[in-house]
Amino acid sequence: MAHDHTDETHHAHIHHDPDQPQEVDEAQLRVRALETILVEKGYVDPATLDSIIDYFEHRVGPHVGAKAVARAWVDESFKRALLEDGAAAIQTLNLVPRIGDHLIVVENTPMQHNMVVCTLCSCYPWDVLGLPPTWYKSAAYRSRAIIDPRGVLTDFGVALPESTEIRVWDSTAETRFLVLPMRPANTESLGEDALAALVTRNSMIGTAVPVGPSA
Ligand code: FE
Repeated sequence: MAHDHTDETHHAHIHHDPDQPQEVDEAQLRVRALETILVEKGYVDPATLDSIIDYFEHRVGPHVGAKAVARAWVDESFKRALLEDGAAAIQTLNLVPRIGDHLIVVENTPMQHNMVVCTLCSCYPWDVLGLPPTWYKSAAYRSRAIIDPRGVLTDFGVALPESTEIRVWDSTAETRFLVLPMRPANTESLGEDALAALVTRNSMIGTAVPVGPSA
């Protein structure tokens, strides 16, 4: 499961089969125990905790990054601003209250494809992509993204021309990366919202490329 980059759904299915008793792992038990103690002692307010979780589960998510990508595709000056200072540019879209991380936007071109990893742990641009996918945090992705990025892309079903260089960006606690994918072909007639709908989470991590409508 953790080594299988392509099948998160399957992973989720195994653990949430309604016919099976719900599995609660050790980490979840520890989190519950900790939350209970903190609430009982009055250190945290359960409603506040719920609102924080709701914020990361619903309010922020890949739609924020997708909107920024689509805007960059239709607006050259926004694109320049995005590449210059990702956080400041996305802030102007007023989608989330605050883009907290130092966000570096890296642009895919026919010459260079960008892919993001955190080899040390699991740093991820939460403010623009929401919660990280399970595979992003796996040891297999974190090591193989560096050793064999083209092989990782193949696993994700992405085949790039040999002439396209793959550049891997390693996140740190201070620096997060967002990939600006190339606008797909046959999208000349699409408006910004329709374009944003083509921009997947993985395409902004660099493990996918957006696909346009077929000609
Ligand atoms: Fe990290």
